[in-house]
Amino acid sequence: RKENFNIVCDDLKEGEKRPIPNPTCAFADAFQCYPEIMENIKKAGFQMPTPIQSQSWPIVLQGIDLIGVAQTGTGKTLSYLMPGFIHLDGQPKVGGKRNRPGMLVLTPTRELAIQVEAECSKYSYKGLRSVCVYGGGDRDRQIEDLRKGVDVIIATPGRLNDLQMNNFVNLKSVTYLVLDEADKMLDMGFEPQIMKILLDVRPDRQTIMTSATWPYAVRRLAQSYLKEPMIVYVGTLDL
Ligand code: ADP
Ligand code: MG
Repeated sequence: RKENFNIVCDDLKEGEKRPIPNPTCAFADAFQCYPEIMENIKKAGFQMPTPIQSQSWPIVLQGIDLIGVAQTGTGKTLSYLMPGFIHLDGQPKVGGKRNRPGMLVLTPTRELAIQVEAECSKYSYKGLRSVCVYGGGDRDRQIEDLRKGVDVIIATPGRLNDLQMNNFVNLKSVTYLVLDEADKMLDMGFEPQIMKILLDVRPDRQTIMTSATWPYAVRRLAQSYLKEPMIVYVGTLDL
């Protein structure tokens, strides 16, 4: 069986459409100005960007909200992590310090949160500190980790909402938000917690959403929380 990728890219902004940026064919097209990122990619031994990465990076690097729809295993994590690092690096500093946390990734399960945090550390950039927060994990330890100061929080919605309600975390400086596997988060009934979390993050943030599917519930979520997004859809065509 041969597989072929079918990539559809669209601007969901109402009215006049913006041009869709050209896809990144080589890693250097997106990251040549960021030697540390190029070095990490080289170390990982990747040959070329996956289809979702090549289409997502130029969009997200322009500061545009993005919905990435593609199957599991297509490289969606790095499609939002790398531009996220660059975003954080470009944020204005106050008194020589970054506003923290600047990036928040919400995931449906602890396993995924741990996996994303591992990628975050593996490709870590300019000493950005990341922490993982999830239900079933040692809550006091997570509180202590947060207290030390972090740039990136990767969290499941239930536990993060709990820590937020009890003032153990302040999300007001989050300028880059990711809803990873949004379809699964909805299936698991996390929408109320997501809603409460998003009341605190900055309204002028950049938001990225990933999903393996594109049903009505996910479209509605995108409409509520993303601003004039573009969408990249990668499907497989069986030939
Ligand atoms: P998804 O989130 O779409 O399920 P992941 O981001 O978890 O996929 O990536 C799946 C695997 O592919 C990971 O092991 C990751 O390291 C690897 N990967 C990511 N980008 C590339 C690439 N450009 N080339 C080869 N492998 C990659
Ligand atoms: Mg993923």
